[in-house]
Amino acid sequence: MRDASRLPSAIRTLPSRSATEPVVGLDLGGTKIAAALVAADGTVLTRRTRPTPAADGAEAVLDALAAAATEVASEAASGAEPRAVGVAAAGVIDPVSGTVTGATDTIRGWPGTPLAPALAARLGTPVACDNDVRATAGPELAALPDGSSLLYLAVGTGIGGAVAVDGRMAHGGRGVAGHLGHLPSPEADGLPCTCGAVGHLEAVAAGPGITALYERLSGRSAGRLQTVARRAEQGDAAAAQAITVGARAAGRMLGGLANALGPDRVVVGGGVTGLGHRWFAPLTEAFTAELLTPIGELRPHPPRFGADAAVRGAALLTATAPMHHPA
Ligand SMILES: [Zn+2]
Repeated sequence: MRDASRLPSAIRTLPSRSATEPVVGLDLGGTKIAAALVAADGTVLTRRTRPTPAADGAEAVLDALAAAATEVASEAASGAEPRAVGVAAAGVIDPVSGTVTGATDTIRGWPGTPLAPALAARLGTPVACDNDVRATAGPELAALPDGSSLLYLAVGTGIGGAVAVDGRMAHGGRGVAGHLGHLPSPEADGLPCTCGAVGHLEAVAAGPGITALYERLSGRSAGRLQTVARRAEQGDAAAAQAITVGARAAGRMLGGLANALGPDRVVVGGGVTGLGHRWFAPLTEAFTAELLTPIGELRPHPPRFGADAAVRGAALLTATAPMHHPA
């Protein structure tokens, strides 16, 4: 639980709902919105998805989020309005202000959107929000003993992450904590990053980074990571090398960060984990090689929770993140 005395007065209110009532979890992605009604014990009671009207802009996306929340709440046995809503969204999200402080142009006009306050106003219901990877890491942290530290890395089209120290999820200034894809990486030296800087991990270790490395190594086009994976299985040495380099880069960064933070558990998820052993083995080896002796037994683990992890994490935000109430 956050230290409430440090929060602005408008949100210095603990959740008013009973801890036994289900809440709504929303996972906002660039192409779809996943919505679920989630019981207090984390059980998903109802789930629905709908397209994200990304090209229609922020107001349309807020309307769609509100409609998604109302839809799953109306399917509850009680038929009641949702008592609280948690939103997990991509980009830099500041849970204290409830605002999108940074984002790509996937959703038109999304940066600066007052996500939680605007959704609370639409629904008449308190809303909490956070970055999607941090939200997804929440149930992982909750499953550990009190006061545990957690490192969570998500490797997909981009690279995100979450950092919890001594039982507390780090949000950092402007909500930027945990953006592990934007640490400098020797393997990415000279490569342009999606954030505008040069040499960040994401440029070599995210799916598009691995694909681009393969294309540079082989002189052949591949277009997508699945093609690189297939060619690696067929014995293409450049494909195997690109996957290994991306994995090792992620593992080195994660090992260094483990030395800095001393996590009790390290979790690695995201779409790139679909590459399997060919990717996870060099990541683990590079990770382990960096570790200081007291944490030398630490190993990265796959996520504990499956496809529902993001909506479960979003729902958990209503108990762990600042609530934004309707004006
Ligand atoms: Zn970057």
